[in-house]
Amino acid sequence: MAERPLTLMAVHAHPDDEATGTGGVLAKYAAEGITTVLVTCTDGRCGDGPGGVKPGEPGHDPDAVAAMRVEELETACATLKVSHLELLGYPDSGMMGWSTNDVAGSFWTTPVPDAAARLAELIRQYEPDVIVTYDENGFYGHPDHIQAHRITMAAVELTGSAAKVYWTTVPRSGMEEFGRTLREFGVEFDAPDPASDAAPQGPPLGLPDEEITTWVDTKAYGSQKFDALAAHASQGENIFFLRMGKERFTELMGVETFLRVRDTTDAPLPEDDLFAGLR
Ligand SMILES: [Zn+2]
Repeated sequence: MAERPLTLMAVHAHPDDEATGTGGVLAKYAAEGITTVLVTCTDGRCGDGPGGVKPGEPGHDPDAVAAMRVEELETACATLKVSHLELLGYPDSGMMGWSTNDVAGSFWTTPVPDAAARLAELIRQYEPDVIVTYDENGFYGHPDHIQAHRITMAAVELTGSAAKVYWTTVPRSGMEEFGRTLREFGVEFDAPDPASDAAPQGPPLGLPDEEITTWVDTKAYGSQKFDALAAHASQGENIFFLRMGKERFTELMGVETFLRVRDTTDAPLPEDDLFAGLR
């Protein structure tokens, strides 16, 4: 087949999303000799500052937070052996409803065709065989995640490129255990009711197991995934994962699951490899 190495591109919203959602596949495929490209769309300026200071609180300096988070991202990429890190550099839009959503130039206010054209350039440059991003709801409703989804799908359309495209997801069957583990480590988490179609905040997280197309066992790379997340320990929401320690973390987060939404390989489903049909 192709003489160039196979290539995986992951498109994420903020520094640290690469570790939680795709740290396992980034590490696994790098170890298998596949070129890995991480595109991070925003600068994460609406994240926590040093000492856990929240955006909008006194002492939160968005420029300093952005600078700190790029360094953290570079450390995480070194840990995951990411071949190429590309930063689109849009200002983080903050959580849905924050005034930062509407700041001029924020990722959320950037017209989709503009950002998609930039991503399309990167797709032409790296020619990824597999592209991974979020679903239409950005997995959990964050505007920058929704926008990352939109520009990725638009860029795929523009370039007609990538043999396979995936959206990250989680199996609903795992939500109960996920909730139990979080509570054990001191985090309140109400697992969505699988019987209801819509939670008050929006569509329920994840998919019924039988709709998930792709289950990739990345437990052998759990240590790298944990260390990548540890590089982002400045962000409060990552800390409970780190409290679990590597073993529990890998048990809970060691299988990464995806919905295959574009495919030119006809690899049979369900599959256990993003590159099934390509090698
Ligand atoms: Zn994010």
